[in-house]
Amino acid sequence: MMEQEAREVLKRLTEHGHSAYMVGGYVRDRMMNRPIRDIDIATSALPEQVAALFPHTVPTGLKHGTVTVVTEHCAFEVTTFRRESRYVQFRRPEKVEFIDDLHEDLQRRDFTINAMAMDADGNVIDPFGGLADARSRLLRCVGSPHERFREDALRMMRCIRFAAEYELEIEPLTWEALLWNAPALRYIAMERIRSELERMIEGTFPYRAMRLLLDSGLMQYFKTDPGWPMARWDAEKRGCLQALQGIQDNVVRWALLFRLMETSAQDARLSLRRLTFPRNKAEQICRPLTFHEWLERKADELAEASGEPAGSEAAPLKRWEMLFKEGAARFGKKTLRQWLSVHRAAQSAAAAGGCPTPPAWQSLIIRHGEEWLREVAIDSLKELAVTGADLLRFHAKAGPWVGSILERLLTDVAQGSVPNRKEPLLQLADKYVREMVNDA
Ligand code: ATP
Ligand code: MG
Repeated sequence: MMEQEAREVLKRLTEHGHSAYMVGGYVRDRMMNRPIRDIDIATSALPEQVAALFPHTVPTGLKHGTVTVVTEHCAFEVTTFRRESRYVQFRRPEKVEFIDDLHEDLQRRDFTINAMAMDADGNVIDPFGGLADARSRLLRCVGSPHERFREDALRMMRCIRFAAEYELEIEPLTWEALLWNAPALRYIAMERIRSELERMIEGTFPYRAMRLLLDSGLMQYFKTDPGWPMARWDAEKRGCLQALQGIQDNVVRWALLFRLMETSAQDARLSLRRLTFPRNKAEQICRPLTFHEWLERKADELAEASGEPAGSEAAPLKRWEMLFKEGAARFGKKTLRQWLSVHRAAQSAAAAGGCPTPPAWQSLIIRHGEEWLREVAIDSLKELAVTGADLLRFHAKAGPWVGSILERLLTDVAQGSVPNRKEPLLQLADKYVREMVNDA
């Protein structure tokens, strides 16, 4: 359906005397049998000419020549053929020049596999040998790789992303130019670096991407240092990054990455801020790490109380269960499930060598954690059968005591020591209030 509607857009443009092609990622993904997400169109028509030919358009990026054409079921970015002449400080130019030649438009693109076009009849226009490179699985710059990376340093990050994601070898001259021009990356805004990193870590082959990133040394030239210690890791240690591959949830992938680097929650937060991650995503990534630190502290306390060295699993299983369920009340079941995924993956990475083996108590929790979580009835105050207002019957003056008793009740319910019903909870609250008054 998308391809059908794209062809209709091409036909309308060509019927009015313009040339028009599907370009870039679409042609690449079609030719490499990869799933198609969107279709970009390039045309000799000027933006206002495009807008005049279709009933429904949106002026998406007029300055760059892009008009979005909205069809019955789809939307296509239609961009006028252009030339990007002056590059300022290793970044793509602010100003572009519209031209009417497809060939020149393809020539400004980064890699040969990205520099192909297809007309409405399915004929492929491939002036730089993108098809042959795709077949021999080579990622190669269009023209001189030195020039291309000098014009726009972000292309080096794209190079690594495409090589990893599409399982391509980077052509030797392209790789050499990348190594040479790496320092120019310092001119690229961290937002753009972050977006490429997200696509690498969250893509199909995060391990390949990380390996290339480390081999190239690009990371040390980021405008802001994300503070990842792995630049100094040897090949064996890097092997543990393979664990990223098996993870579905992207938040878990990032949390695992920080776990493998043995980064604290606080340092992870700092790193994510430097990488300009949105606050919300950063917080999500840090939650399982924060829970981990809480758990480690509690594990030490447990070990001390039982007189055993920290890290042993000497405390009876029941106490680990209670601890884990208390964690569910504090951090939520979702965070604990993410923690389980992170540590299950870290454990298998450790078994394969390269990163430290977790202490015995962690393996214990990993083994039973999911089963324990299934028994946890509720994990938030919202679900508790009593509210703060209910508690004021014991003591008319509201204060921090209300919150702390609610937290205790929630933990009790999560641990299964009291049912989530009003009467038993109020009885228990009554007892807690008396204790509190006696203590005071
Ligand atoms: P994906 O959408 O999967 O990232 P894509 O190739 O479609 O892949 P876009 O960023 O959507 O990537 O860009 C569309 C096309 O524009 C690319 O295929 C490429 O031809 C060209 N292009 C994008 N960014 C650059 C760049 N920094 N330098 C040169 N050409 C680029
Ligand atoms: Mg695209």
